[in-house]
Amino acid sequence: MTTTSYALQTSHLVKRFGGFVATNDVTLNVAAGARHALIGPNGAGKTTLINLLTGFLEPTSGSVTLNGEEVTRLAQHQRVKRGLARTFQINRLFADMSVLESVTLAVCERRGLGARWWQPVGAHTDAIAEAAALLAQLKLLDVAHHQTKSLAYGKQRLIEIALALAMKPKVLLLDEPAAGVPTGESRALFETIAQLPREVTILLIEHDMDLVFRFADRISVLVNGAVLTEDVPSVIATDPRVKEVYLGEAAHG
Ligand code: ADP
Ligand code: MG
Repeated sequence: MTTTSYALQTSHLVKRFGGFVATNDVTLNVAAGARHALIGPNGAGKTTLINLLTGFLEPTSGSVTLNGEEVTRLAQHQRVKRGLARTFQINRLFADMSVLESVTLAVCERRGLGARWWQPVGAHTDAIAEAAALLAQLKLLDVAHHQTKSLAYGKQRLIEIALALAMKPKVLLLDEPAAGVPTGESRALFETIAQLPREVTILLIEHDMDLVFRFADRISVLVNGAVLTEDVPSVIATDPRVKEVYLGEAAHG
């Protein structure tokens, strides 16, 4: 018998905004190596939960545990140091730098070479090699020398993921990575994400159910800040309560 080890857990997590309960007693266990999806209608509290996990928000009560260590009161950068990464916002991309330079800079930052940013990027041979390997993993090598701003949006989202992976995370949080990406590009984007090594545990928020069911091996359904149910995709797909939640959302636009 094997015991499951968890990369990321919450226990009875609560977040109130004034009288409003955005996160309602959420206990979540994300197994190491999982492809875990968090779904739920608009306003269910998915982004709030991610913000509690990263330390962007402080919970009202409850706890967050990363690789067995409680991190509930740790600052964002302390959690990053312990292996928790989320994708960068699009405006954090360095528009005028090449893809390779951007990712190399992130690798240098992790290696503590960040203070010497004014040195030519070419001085950091090892960091460049590591960045190039990441680009290969994300199928971005062919655009390595393009300016990030010149790339299609789907490719830009992959660069954000490359920047997050440059931190060598154990857990990667992806909040709607395909948001704003044209449908034609989102399938390829997800295929690339799905091929990331299993050493990286992924918790994904995604609206497109086709993509979710293709990607996830575990799904938690959030409604009104609380976990409605959690199970393997085949069980979630046939759960009438889940269907009802989404039909309700469609009916109300
Ligand atoms: P989702 O990502 O599932 O669409 P959110 O986590 O963004 O949902 O929001 C959940 C609920 O919490 C929403 O009703 C939203 O209006 C509310 N909310 C989120 N952030 C704040 C905040 N800083 N102050 C007050 N209410 C908030
Ligand atoms: Mg959201």
